[in-house]
Amino acid sequence: MDDPDDSADAREAFSLLGHEIRLEILLALLEDWMAVYTEPKSYAELMDAVGMRDSGKFNYHLGQLRGVYVRKVEGGYVPTASATALYRAVLAHRPTDRFEDEFAPTAASCPACGSTPSVRYERGFLSVDCDDCSEWVGFTYPFPQNGVESRDPDDLLEAVHARVRHDLGLAREGQCPDCAGTTTVDLRLEAVGDGSHWVSIECDTCTFVVGTNVLSAVLGDDRVASALREAGVDLERYQLDLPTGPTRIESREPPTLAVDVEGEVGTVTVVVDDALDVQSVERE
Ligand SMILES: [Zn+2]
Ligand SMILES: [Zn+2]
Repeated sequence: MDDPDDSADAREAFSLLGHEIRLEILLALLEDWMAVYTEPKSYAELMDAVGMRDSGKFNYHLGQLRGVYVRKVEGGYVPTASATALYRAVLAHRPTDRFEDEFAPTAASCPACGSTPSVRYERGFLSVDCDDCSEWVGFTYPFPQNGVESRDPDDLLEAVHARVRHDLGLAREGQCPDCAGTTTVDLRLEAVGDGSHWVSIECDTCTFVVGTNVLSAVLGDDRVASALREAGVDLERYQLDLPTGPTRIESREPPTLAVDVEGEVGTVTVVVDDALDVQSVERE
């Protein structure tokens, strides 16, 4: 939050919650929430739900919530998108003590050396690392705690994998998966340790940022996916298991990168520009 206006808005929004009556009003409104079909609660219903008799006091607190968390519509009051988003965030990230220690998934392997990686879930992030080699850079991605609670290690990795792919697809196409704002692609022209090139996609508004190799970023492209399948690359594997392939700089002005991926029955060469738009896909 570099913008002082953003932090002032956040301060105001959070401070509004610091009163029991306001919390009760908000929870009463969230109780029967059904997206855009939510029936508004009338003033009397809401007052009743909160169990208040003093209308002056009730009116004051309802007024405080209006704008940020409560909207007046025909027939009464509904929660705003801020209220429901906050409620969902609390549910998604409620504390869990599952996976406090490292654990080893059975179905994943280090893409560099093939040994079983170790997985750790910490502070809302799932991290996968190889203890047996230093060639692989590893993998870390935010994942709501709620999604950790009910899954075994292999299912959890699969769920994280699906989430990464989904988020990357949106982010590459210019949409932040968290806040729907626009994104900016930053393609690094210096190769990392395993010879692949790294790219980061950042939200222009919120804190969303994802760093990945070039190939992973373009797996959502139909031409890339079908060429890889035809070459015998199994795309249903975990993100971390997918071949990254060495990247070559095709040209510097304007910058384009080529990635060669070897499948069971062929090689695919994907060329992307610095906005991660796929320029060409060739299969041999
Ligand atoms: Zn390894
Ligand atoms: Zn965002």
